[in-house]
Amino acid sequence: MMRNQLPTLLAVAALASVTASLLAQQPAEQKMKPEETEVWQPVPPVVTPAKDCGAAPSDAVVLFDGKSLDQWVNVSDQQPAKWDLVDGLMRVNKTGGSIETKQKFKNYQLHIEFRIPESITGSGQARGNSGVFLASTGAGDSGYELQVLDSYQNSTYVNGMAGSLYKQAIPLANAARKPGEWNVYDVVWTAPIFNEDGSVKTHAYATVLWNGVIVENHFELQGETRYIGKPFYKAYDTAPIKLQAHGDKSEPISFRNIWVRNLP
Ligand code: MG
Repeated sequence: MMRNQLPTLLAVAALASVTASLLAQQPAEQKMKPEETEVWQPVPPVVTPAKDCGAAPSDAVVLFDGKSLDQWVNVSDQQPAKWDLVDGLMRVNKTGGSIETKQKFKNYQLHIEFRIPESITGSGQARGNSGVFLASTGAGDSGYELQVLDSYQNSTYVNGMAGSLYKQAIPLANAARKPGEWNVYDVVWTAPIFNEDGSVKTHAYATVLWNGVIVENHFELQGETRYIGKPFYKAYDTAPIKLQAHGDKSEPISFRNIWVRNLP
């Protein structure tokens, strides 16, 4: 043996010893066969996606397809929604008040598109203010609001801009398109769960993509939206989805292509 080979041999021996001891420490599971961790049941249901991404897949509940407001009622009197159907769009009617879905939901995936008019005026919260209440738990603005607002070069408190869970979660980015262009929200809503006595067992969570940009990442809500004061939970089981007719004086905004998929 050449004299200079000795350090190499010693290094190899040391490495072999370390490898052997690591193998000895591997948990018993590592000795299983691949098949033992394969799961074959239950088979997920087939959902046929739409031709275009963003259009309703086969199992969606379509809430607005441009043809009628049949899926919506006024929050105030539960009568047919008083918003305007214009050119296949649903336009906020401020005197008509907020509207909500006839159907109630628990956990879901929601797709909704909104457009701030190109002619929008006003500033801050008084510029295209509306909102998607992910669960409408009663009259007025009660529930959990995902803010809708013109946030294209329009400054306001950041936990009240578009993409915020109003006064609870600042969006991770401002993905606003300018007035006149369409904005898209894709939302995953995990409803809160309540104990028998009405106390909250698990909190609500919301994930929101705004024009394809994630702005709320599985955010844990502290309760319903409060305009004044701290949020708190009020027990509910299933709830409609509500769209806000805000009292600001700016031009009414429009919605289109609204659909929801119930989740386990
Ligand atoms: Mg609002």
